[in-house]
Amino acid sequence: MTKSTTLDYAMPVACVSTLREGKVPRHIVCLTFDFDTQSGFIARGMTSPTALSRGEFGLIGAQRILALLRSHAIRATWFVPAFTIESHPRACEALLPDGHEVAHHSWAHVPPAQQTRAEEEADLVRANEAIARLTGRKARGYRSPSWDLSENTVDLLLAHGFLYDSSLMGADYWPYRARRGDKVELGKPYGYGEQSELIEMPISWSLDDYPHFEFVRTPTAVLPGLQSARTVMENWRDEFRYMQQAVDWGVLTYTMHPYVIGRGYRMLALEGLLKDLAAAGAAFMTMEDAANEARARMFAPPSS
Ligand SMILES: [Zn+2]
Repeated sequence: MTKSTTLDYAMPVACVSTLREGKVPRHIVCLTFDFDTQSGFIARGMTSPTALSRGEFGLIGAQRILALLRSHAIRATWFVPAFTIESHPRACEALLPDGHEVAHHSWAHVPPAQQTRAEEEADLVRANEAIARLTGRKARGYRSPSWDLSENTVDLLLAHGFLYDSSLMGADYWPYRARRGDKVELGKPYGYGEQSELIEMPISWSLDDYPHFEFVRTPTAVLPGLQSARTVMENWRDEFRYMQQAVDWGVLTYTMHPYVIGRGYRMLALEGLLKDLAAAGAAFMTMEDAANEARARMFAPPSS
């Protein structure tokens, strides 16, 4: 297939930025772990002992993931709700010695789309203070709970000094500049807002372990999950192969949850994926490092 050479090929016109591909192929992989423990269950009102224990299993999963990453010398990004930092401090301190990035994932795992601007900002600040106490500095990256930004989120992230967000799905292999002020009205054409300085590190439910694996039963719905781990990892492997075919420079982000991927047979499948990606030339990076590299490509003069 022919590799694309400009962003126009892949992205809506208002997303087009100055991101340039490299002369030497470089294919970055960001492993990201949303360390929710019980927070997501509590935010959804699932507070029976068994529901909470599903989140608690994330503490075991996180230990396994840390050991796996250490054995492959991979630094990853952990999006940690401050609920987890304050409920399970030792599990969060364990992320630090190997140089993993701790990024922002709210305090209580309530999606911003469900909050007023004041509530969202208060949660942002409270959680960032907990991250600063844990790591010594405020977060550079943000991922919204349940991937549902509000119309205020980009503004708030910029106001609070964030480098990147990782909650949108407008691209796959190319980070892009998050927009604010898109105008949407039923019956009218889409109105693109302005591009901001915030780097968007795009994600996809297809590259998230949760919908593939978690069995969730509520009074009104059943998410079946429980798919073959090998099949899911095969899909994820193919996504990397396609990135290599499609672009000379790109970032592929996988999203996982310790209480989901931490089950034994899934850990084996994940280990197989990591070995194959490494053999195929993947450059594993924290999302902050990848966002910095993307930003340099977006904003540097197009001479090199
Ligand atoms: Zn989460």
